[in-house]
Amino acid sequence: MPYPFPDEPLAGDPLAEPPERAELRRTLRELIARESPPERVHELDEAERFDDALHARLAELGLLGIDAPEELGGSGDVRDQLVVVEELAAGPTSMAAFVIAQFAVVQVLAGFGREETQRAVLRELIDGSVRVSFALSEPGGGTDVARAMRTRAQRTASGDWRLDGQKTWTSGAAAARWIVVLARTSPVERSPVHGISMFLVPADAPGVEVRPIDTFGIHGLSTCDVFLDGVTVPADAVLGDVDRGMRQVFATVNREGLNAAAATLGVGRAALELAVRHAGEREVFGKPIGAFQVPQHWMVDGAVALESARSLMLRAAALEVAGTDSGLLASMAKLVASEAAVRISEQGMQLMGGLGYTRGVAMQRFFRDGRLWSFSPLTNEMVRNRIGEQLLGLPRSY
Ligand SMILES: Cc1cc2nc3c(=O)[nH]c(=O)nc-3n(C[C@H](O)[C@H](O)[C@H](O)COP(=O)(O)OP(=O)(O)OC[C@H]3O[C@@H](n4cnc5c(N)ncnc54)[C@H](O)[C@@H]3O)c2cc1C
Repeated sequence: MPYPFPDEPLAGDPLAEPPERAELRRTLRELIARESPPERVHELDEAERFDDALHARLAELGLLGIDAPEELGGSGDVRDQLVVVEELAAGPTSMAAFVIAQFAVVQVLAGFGREETQRAVLRELIDGSVRVSFALSEPGGGTDVARAMRTRAQRTASGDWRLDGQKTWTSGAAAARWIVVLARTSPVERSPVHGISMFLVPADAPGVEVRPIDTFGIHGLSTCDVFLDGVTVPADAVLGDVDRGMRQVFATVNREGLNAAAATLGVGRAALELAVRHAGEREVFGKPIGAFQVPQHWMVDGAVALESARSLMLRAAALEVAGTDSGLLASMAKLVASEAAVRISEQGMQLMGGLGYTRGVAMQRFFRDGRLWSFSPLTNEMVRNRIGEQLLGLPRSY
């Protein structure tokens, strides 16, 4: 029985993929093998460059609009998103980070972009001709962003909006044509969640400045500070309802969590495959490393954790397709998968000895890239807080 299961499901496995999703997975694997082999991923990672060619192929295959309305070029549902994210994460991981942000912005624009300009941006986003970033986090805090939000939008006498403040950690902003910006439009009264609105801001508007941040991983996608200094946008730049922006994005952040589970499943799987291959080939004391118990148990624990996370993720996805709240299972899936990916790649580096410490071998990149999802979109501490409250009925701990 070769690992991993999705390729060779066990007979009768209730979570085995239906033929059309298995076909999507095959298509992606072929695309990645052709367009984004390990040498190219390494080269782009070292050069800190986005893979424009791969992005164009994903657009051609219609994969940038999964779960968007059909009339706008969308198709498929969350389960297809999970396949795309997982397969990209197992190879060009930065592109998985990109598509997670892409799917989030598609969801926001499809749900709340009512104006004609906003619909046009959504169409261009899906056909790959523009990129849009999502700017929620701020220097004062990501976890508690509603309370920490200092970015303000004020209505001017002419009915426009004037935005001032700073966003940080904005993925892909260096090459974005538009940025979805969350800003405070009313003072905090009862709940900090109220009084925040969402704006679609042109990245080249006067007063917008984007500065890349040097990060530990995800080098194939920029991560940026976004400064907003007296940026004026028209009244129809608001997405959805004024003052309700934060509530509007909750579903998007939940979906990002589920997609983060798929990303770390992909990273963990690729790291595990590399470890298993190396452990079978490299000999010490006349035996392959994989014949020793300690590394063998590491790899077994990794495989078991990934399969547990996959089951949780697929159950969460099924609930989401049925229109039921999937938050709890999605949180569990993200927790298990993200911790497994970090552990597998860290033990994988150990198992590879000196080789694991070299930049030309992907194990260290899996560690660096996979590490992102331990704290993003929600920190694993906060994920545990939510599970404690929702699953165990414990008092809110934050
Ligand atoms: C590469 C990268 C890309 C990103 N892309 C985007 C993007 O496109 N758009 C965007 O808006 N944001 C983005 N983010 C931001 C990301 O979502 C935040 O980093 C994340 O939400 C955590 O916020 P923070 O960094 O402010 O950490 P903090 O909120 O300061 O948390 C730091 C630590 O404090 C502890 N902590 C916090 N709260 C609790 C609690 N309640 N209980 C226990 N412990 C707690 C945890 O240990 C936590 O890890 C990105 C970040 C990175 C690094």
